[in-house]
Amino acid sequence: MPRIPIAAGNWKMNKTSQEASAYAEAFLPQVKDFKKEIEIIICPPFTALATLASYFRNSPIKLGAQNMHWEEKGAFTGEVSAPMIKEWGCQYVILGHSERRHIFRETSEEVGKKVKKALEWGINPILCVGETLEEREKGETEKIVEEQLLLGLSDIPDAKASSIVIAYEPVWAIGTGKAATSEDARGVISFIREKLSSRFNVEISGDIRILYGGSVSPENVLDFLREDEIDGTLVGGASLDPLKMIKIAEETLRAY
Ligand code: PEP
Repeated sequence: MPRIPIAAGNWKMNKTSQEASAYAEAFLPQVKDFKKEIEIIICPPFTALATLASYFRNSPIKLGAQNMHWEEKGAFTGEVSAPMIKEWGCQYVILGHSERRHIFRETSEEVGKKVKKALEWGINPILCVGETLEEREKGETEKIVEEQLLLGLSDIPDAKASSIVIAYEPVWAIGTGKAATSEDARGVISFIREKLSSRFNVEISGDIRILYGGSVSPENVLDFLREDEIDGTLVGGASLDPLKMIKIAEETLRAY
């Protein structure tokens, strides 16, 4: 089975639910007829999930959260759990985003616990991995990516592995306007697929979608989509503009 390509938008800490409504009204008419050939996923802040869920119901657009805790409930002030985001209509959750790893000091072990819990609740994790500029310059890209990948997947049974999506997001490319070259992205993504084959098996590895993220725009998205190994993109800044996100979704549909 060919892997279904993904165009995913990460809004980060942007847009109130009123602004999310305005976005949905501009976005939805342009993408509502997209069939199952691609998956379009929007990941707004928690506070806009309920609003977007009501717009996206009966549409092909899927909702994702940007984080969750690994416990289901309890004394974790300020946190949100898998059953809570599931109730809000999330089919996806971004886990281990570099901003969470670097600003909030999330460890790969914690990310691994979250991946496991998301899968238990039938939520597809988008596990982000990627090296900093310093790590890249020291020649440590593969080491860092492998470590984040294997710890992120440490307790995952084979039967659930194909629901996971991996996003390769070099930290130096996020929000900088300096995207990786498609050759660089393909190289690391091929390495990730190789590691997934040894962690699971070749068949499972062939089912797992691997995205590129880092300064993706309507202008450069095709470069990444042309690479067979790259199954779509995780888009930050550009996804905040509905017209840019529509273009990225259209290019994704066209490319596969
Ligand atoms: C991201 O936040 O995952 C991201 C890739 O951001 P940007 O597209 O703005 O670089």
